[in-house]
Amino acid sequence: MVSEPELSLLFTKDEIAAAVSRLASEIGRDYLTKHPLLIAVLKGSFVFLADLIRQLDFPLEIEFVRLSSYGKDTESSGRVKMAPGAPSQIKGRHVLIIEDIIDTGLTAAFLLDYLRRKKPASLKLCSLTDKPERRRVMVNIDYRGLTVPDKFIAGYGIDCDERYRHLPDIYVLEQ
Ligand code: 5GP
Repeated sequence: MVSEPELSLLFTKDEIAAAVSRLASEIGRDYLTKHPLLIAVLKGSFVFLADLIRQLDFPLEIEFVRLSSYGKDTESSGRVKMAPGAPSQIKGRHVLIIEDIIDTGLTAAFLLDYLRRKKPASLKLCSLTDKPERRRVMVNIDYRGLTVPDKFIAGYGIDCDERYRHLPDIYVLEQ
């Protein structure tokens, strides 16, 4: 029989909301007149993006990319792939990547490199969560929300094998 993972609460929805508000004011301060292009990494960042943009009171555009480094496992495969349909109008834009979690850093490093080649006017990274203990490549997180321990997390858009995205809080999954 497959045992259900146990969920232990890591961040409440109020703690997440406070982090999102802080990030929104940092981003608002820097991008007020820049008409940025936010590029959100699917699927994990969609709840974060939805809450964040409703606190950004200036012109902006949104695109999505679909990247994967994980299959059904909770360990990174170390390979990053981009699904077809990546945004093309990057040149000269102020681009801000919106991520759910930076773990090994491989996904963000891949996307930063991919977008940098398209010659944006500026390129920055915002991540709701950061798991610094597992970093394998250096990435600079310009806007960092919550620091998480070296545990597998889910909730608030972040899944485990497509489950738990709807939970309003963030949990550690204990196997
Ligand atoms: P990285 O390439 O930095 O190792 O991983 C980035 C991606 O791995 C994230 O966008 C996310 O999809 C996935 N990931 C990393 N850590 C976790 C975690 O604790 N929980 C979940 N659900 N996904 C994670």
